[in-house]
Amino acid sequence: MLEPALRILKDIFGYDSFRGRQGAIIECVARGGDALVLMPTGGGKSLCFQVPALLREGLAVVVSPLIALMEDQVATLDELGVAAVALNSTLSADEQREIAERIKRGEIKLLYLAPERLVQPRMLAFLQNLDIALFAIDEAHCVSQWGHDFRPEYLQLGQLAELFPQVPRIALTATADMRTREEIVTRLHLQNAERFLSSFDRPNIFYRIVPKEQPRKQLLAFLGERKGDAGIVYCLSRKKVEEVAAFLSTQGYPALPYHAGLPHELRAYHQKRFLNEEGLIMVATIAFGMGIDKPNVRFVAHLDLPKSLEAYYQETGRAGRDGLPADAWMAYGLQDVLLLKQMLQNSEGDERHKRLEQHKLDAMLALCEQIRCRRQALLAYFDEELPQPCGHCDNCVDAVQTWDATEPARQALSAIFRSGQRYGVGHLVDLLLGRDNDKVRSLGHQHLSVFGVGKALSEGEWRSLFRQLVARGLADVDLEGYGGLRLSDSCRPLLRGEVALQLRRDLKPQQTAKPSASAASQLVRGEEREQWEALRALRRKLAEEHAVPPYVIFPDATLLEMLRSKPGSLSAMAQVSGVGARKLERYGEAFLDVLNGAAETPQVVVDLRHELISLARAGMTPQQIAGQLKCSEKNVYSLLAEAIGRQQLSLEQALDLPQELLGEIQDAFLDGEGELPAVAVLAEQFAGRVADGVLYCVRAALQAEFEV
Ligand code: ADP
Ligand code: ZN
Repeated sequence: MLEPALRILKDIFGYDSFRGRQGAIIECVARGGDALVLMPTGGGKSLCFQVPALLREGLAVVVSPLIALMEDQVATLDELGVAAVALNSTLSADEQREIAERIKRGEIKLLYLAPERLVQPRMLAFLQNLDIALFAIDEAHCVSQWGHDFRPEYLQLGQLAELFPQVPRIALTATADMRTREEIVTRLHLQNAERFLSSFDRPNIFYRIVPKEQPRKQLLAFLGERKGDAGIVYCLSRKKVEEVAAFLSTQGYPALPYHAGLPHELRAYHQKRFLNEEGLIMVATIAFGMGIDKPNVRFVAHLDLPKSLEAYYQETGRAGRDGLPADAWMAYGLQDVLLLKQMLQNSEGDERHKRLEQHKLDAMLALCEQIRCRRQALLAYFDEELPQPCGHCDNCVDAVQTWDATEPARQALSAIFRSGQRYGVGHLVDLLLGRDNDKVRSLGHQHLSVFGVGKALSEGEWRSLFRQLVARGLADVDLEGYGGLRLSDSCRPLLRGEVALQLRRDLKPQQTAKPSASAASQLVRGEEREQWEALRALRRKLAEEHAVPPYVIFPDATLLEMLRSKPGSLSAMAQVSGVGARKLERYGEAFLDVLNGAAETPQVVVDLRHELISLARAGMTPQQIAGQLKCSEKNVYSLLAEAIGRQQLSLEQALDLPQELLGEIQDAFLDGEGELPAVAVLAEQFAGRVADGVLYCVRAALQAEFEV
């Protein structure tokens, strides 16, 4: 059984061996058995049903919750020369009929469908008249009412078991928790399915959590080492998403906002750009999530704390699906804790539910303040034991220091108590440091016994201590009042001196070992850089020609292997992992040419133009673009004008002109009869008001308009 499967793996997909449990899963399904596959993101779930689909007779039906996911997979299969289609609401009736005809003629191997479409009686009847190879239910956790991806239509998929008793079914998910697992089995009637549970570790992700001080500055420092990498920055609120996206753009990082408050088309457009272009940063709320199959997301940064470890794991898990090094970075502070607790308090739901959510938040906080290996702690939460510290998280590489905080913690708790359990951290720190300010005076707090007892610690150390007290539940936040701190029951033993307290010592940013080893932009160094960019430029060009995302042509890992192994012939190229027969035939020569240096120079020019267009579309001004691309503004304007002329950019994308001024310039051009006047003719009229380059752009736009 495995023999033909391996042949398909090599010939079609271009891979040499199965990963993890892929082989066993494929064998099970190909044999006609049901399977439940629990595998982390990037583990290689798609092959688990795609290979059996090619091994078995008949049509394989794949259920997927989102059009974006379906399109991505269909495009990938298409490039591999496998006949796959997606039936969805964007198709016309004629197109749908044609697909049905092709299916009846046996020309299609894989059919992708949304669940609600599959369970329509007409569709079920149609399928019952066909030879079905298998049903694959992707993102199977959507059947769970407890998860946040619940899709009621998934519940109806249970009927497949009775309607197609002979057809094997395989359900797949990257959701780790036990409860969801069991729900999938019951709801989808998979009691007899063989279960394949992989480790949920994502070894290529480097985890780092830092105390939040100046979040924007910290974020910039993090991004500074990752120029040109694609990534996601998660924020809690829509407002913050927009602010951070704008901020990053002004700092020279092409960033796009994404949240549920944006118009649907704009969201879809941003998502598409994120998938299709390289090096974009998506600043998003958690609305940006499932459906992001982009394999080369190099980092996920959190500027706000997720509500649970489940959410943290899922969100960070969007980094590094391709298995190459990736980073999960988070800045977290006391303010996050207050905010989330507040939201929890105000949320709908009964007490039991709130308690459950509170526990989840506590687990998240414990990870933030964790002294030991983060990966061990994270996996332990999902009932998985990692025997050794991972050596690939901040706590492992920075050697976290702890200190005996027993006495200062008692002073802090005492300050909370003596001042009446109603003040926030700022005031409490003032008390401990003995700061004689207006607020202290007006309250008469300079007479409290705790006033000035804490001068041995710095303000930063006190803040860190308060944060950890709250995170550990030793102090509570008064959510009804103004967010002041209160004592909690669990602090009594500490106050009575019965227990000691060890806390984490916050590292100064410069003390943290640089994670450059894991920074993905460091994947390619020095002399390799130029050739790497040339390979990427070729990939981008091919992707544009074929209207697919670049990673569908070849994933980064494949390009990297080409770069390192330098195949000199087509047969050597065929050995590169990820180069199957079809892709070898289509693209082999072109990539060989680049590797041999035969096609280098023109590619780099393409590269600059492409970059410029991306940056302009991302909302950067010509000045910012010039800075980013390290070329003159004049140059930028002439390239912009060129792109406008080719209608790759709109005038609005290229320039940021006030409407009246733009109108005035356009009128000036259109004033005369016949031909548009040359820029030189109008230059004097607008001298000092706009750069000549602006005139070139406006003229190019007018010209493009008249040509069509
Ligand atoms: P998942 O759906 O589990 O997140 P994918 O199916 O998208 O993961 O696979 C992640 C990446 O790993 C893809 O780029 C895929 O081509 C690659 N991959 C999967 N299986 C193998 C394998 N056996 N050898 C090499 N690469 C693989
Ligand atoms: Zn570790």
